Amino acid sequence: MLNEPIPFDPAHDLDALAASGALGGNVALFRQPRGPDLLRRGAPLDDWCALRMRHGVWPYGRILEGPPAPLATVEGDGLAAQQGINFASQDYLSLAGHPDVIDAAMRVLAECGPHSAGSAILLGNSRYSGALEHSLGALLHCQHVVLFPTGWGAAFGAVTALVHGSDYVLIDALAHASLRQGAAAASRNVSAFRHLDCDHLRELLAGIRAVDAEAAILVVTEGLFSMDADSPDLPLTQYLCREYGATLLVDVAHDLGAMGPGGSGVIGAQGMLGKIDIVMGAFSKTFASNGGFVACNERSVRRQLQLFAGPHMFSNALSPMQAATVLECLRIVGGNEGDVLRADLMRNALELRALLQEEGMRCLGAPSPIVPLWTGSESAVRVAGMLLAREGVFVNPMEFPGVPLGGARLRLQMMARHTPAQTRRAAKLLASAVRRALDAPRPVLRPAG
Ligand code: PMP
Repeated sequence: MLNEPIPFDPAHDLDALAASGALGGNVALFRQPRGPDLLRRGAPLDDWCALRMRHGVWPYGRILEGPPAPLATVEGDGLAAQQGINFASQDYLSLAGHPDVIDAAMRVLAECGPHSAGSAILLGNSRYSGALEHSLGALLHCQHVVLFPTGWGAAFGAVTALVHGSDYVLIDALAHASLRQGAAAASRNVSAFRHLDCDHLRELLAGIRAVDAEAAILVVTEGLFSMDADSPDLPLTQYLCREYGATLLVDVAHDLGAMGPGGSGVIGAQGMLGKIDIVMGAFSKTFASNGGFVACNERSVRRQLQLFAGPHMFSNALSPMQAATVLECLRIVGGNEGDVLRADLMRNALELRALLQEEGMRCLGAPSPIVPLWTGSESAVRVAGMLLAREGVFVNPMEFPGVPLGGARLRLQMMARHTPAQTRRAAKLLASAVRRALDAPRPVLRPAG
């Protein structure tokens, strides 16, 4: 059958895999199909994905059975369900399986049921969402917090609610898609500054102010970049914004809770609590739930978001159970247990990075919950991801559009509850898979379709 996975023996079949065409091409080639038939013009993309799937190098849409634990059972990618060491889930402090978090969720599920049944503005709020706003505001030193049903919605909603067509957005070139798509939807005056480059940002700010003293400028960056594990100089970025009458938005999806004193993230670690114009984040990495937020110290921003951020106004709110889950995670994050979990998480990240470096591997960025392991080549990242899944190590192979073309890498997301033994075993398997993948035969490119 056409869609049956082809049995694969990694000991012998890398040549055949390269010859199959499944290691060639990239999503960018299929981004804008032409022709009038919206239903069928995506067929070449679908064929290419099916080819990759048949050869076991389509690691997307796999199924996780049970909780996102360090040892997890995963199905898909041409494999029957199997258990392995999991670096592909986002649960940095291992709170998704914490008994107090599960208890809080169960209690509120029994009390309120599973559904919010309205957008925040139309009776979708609960006692728990109110308490969550309050508690998040306290952690971030922000008086006003607006909740969103997803982190994606918070990013897109914040940018589109605040910026309009005659304003400008200056955005870090590697900012998350939710922020970039928000910027593109809000204004045509969008420029990317080189990743983390404050000199370039200053140049662009000066260029705008030389011709336009009236328009608003939103500068967008992240606390911890999720594919690169690096962070901007926030005091300098905020200073530049003040100097040029711009407003700074920082997305703390990956660092809040998991890093910084008391879980205050990179903003706390850089001494900027309460001093960043707008803070935006997601609960989905550390706080065991879908959801997102925007926090600031201006009441008028809160009002603007309530009424003009589409994903807040026109989408159902977080359920009471989700709000209670995040609230309980925040309680743990801010206490002694949070300190212990952050220390465990950082120990795991440092150990994995050190072991990989001993093996001659190149990890990007700085120690954080994210360990990006560079391959550069799309074909190598596909082969490495496939070999690892077969050996019981689950990672996310990242290629375009998650990262720029030619910037492929394996992204490992650490958890506080990974054990040293798991880290050691994974490091060996990771290094040998990446070495084999980089030595593997070059892909043969076949025309798609
Ligand atoms: N911002 C960043 C930096 C992210 O990495 C993500 C998720 N990958 C989001 C926003 C969106 O968050 P969510 O998945 O919770 O909607």
